[in-house]
Amino acid sequence: MRNRLSTITDFEQHLNLTQDEISGFKAAVGKLSVSVTPYFFNLIDKNNPNCPIRRQVVPLGDESYVHPEEMTDPVGEEETMPVPGIVHRYPDRVLFLTTDRCASYCRYCTRSRMVSNAQGYGFSPSLFAGLEYIRKNKSIRDVLLSGGDPLLLSDDKLRKLLTSLSEINHVEFVRIGTRIPIFLPQRINDSLLDALSSHPNLWMSIHVNHPAECTIELKDACAKLVNSGIPLGNQSVLLKGINDNTACMQQLIHRLLMMKVRPYYLYQCDLVQGSSHLRAKVKTGIQIISELRGKTTGYAIPQFVIDAPKGGGKVPINPNYIQEWNQSEIIFKNFEGDLFSYPN
Ligand SMILES: *Cc1c(COP(=O)(O)O)cnc(C)c1O
Repeated sequence: MRNRLSTITDFEQHLNLTQDEISGFKAAVGKLSVSVTPYFFNLIDKNNPNCPIRRQVVPLGDESYVHPEEMTDPVGEEETMPVPGIVHRYPDRVLFLTTDRCASYCRYCTRSRMVSNAQGYGFSPSLFAGLEYIRKNKSIRDVLLSGGDPLLLSDDKLRKLLTSLSEINHVEFVRIGTRIPIFLPQRINDSLLDALSSHPNLWMSIHVNHPAECTIELKDACAKLVNSGIPLGNQSVLLKGINDNTACMQQLIHRLLMMKVRPYYLYQCDLVQGSSHLRAKVKTGIQIISELRGKTTGYAIPQFVIDAPKGGGKVPINPNYIQEWNQSEIIFKNFEGDLFSYPN
């Protein structure tokens, strides 16, 4: 973490920044800090300005362009925050934001209003108040720890947090949303695994976008987590010029299965300010899913979702298989486009 590349000078020592990227560093000020771990930085193909790793973490001048439909809080989290850090949108589960820090900052971050504190949000959640809220609301059976990246909390803090959650009887299921295995796989060490064992039913959602992120280091980190009994899912964001084609997505999800990671969600990129240059079309996502279905392992196919603006929640967006639905039958097409019918 101490050796992260954060300033334009840090980057220029190792990379020929383009004019567009130099403008990007200016655009990032007051929006979302730039920071990349040496490990992740070393995955960049230095001869390719369009390198999919580079484009995720090195800003472009386009970040200063705000499309009229973009927002600072694109999925309306602030409206359903009963206490700072708790987003209670669904009846049975909460999102628990535990920190505003990440190991590296993704340029399309949906929570860039608070993450890295570049916009002066001053996020300082009380883990105590969050736990109190969960304790009092017996309908909460699922807690999703996120941030920022919860695996940047100290082992001791994580142990206390997970132990407290394990002592709340109505909480059946806890998961951590993290990009640490991708940005800082060295963090997945024995003492962290020991802290994570403080909860008996902990799952983890990691965030891999491109097959180039599937390194030996990530594979080893996933193996450690899986061997400690933590089931792994992956969430990807559909990103223009990074992973928005079927061949890339297919390679990614196959590599994920080989690391015992179940592809969970593929997100349409949220309407966060300054992200339009990275946003692929919804139609592209549907196309990719339809090209995967039937042609690869069902386990490998993520659910494509739009996290609806203004707090509507995650909505599955699928290719349209149903052609007709009448009194007597449903007529639908299969993965090859042939029509079939099933009695109604
Ligand atoms: C994504 C999210 C969840 C978890 O949703 P799942 O569909 O169960 O993965 C819960 N709360 C909020 C606010 C979320 O954004």
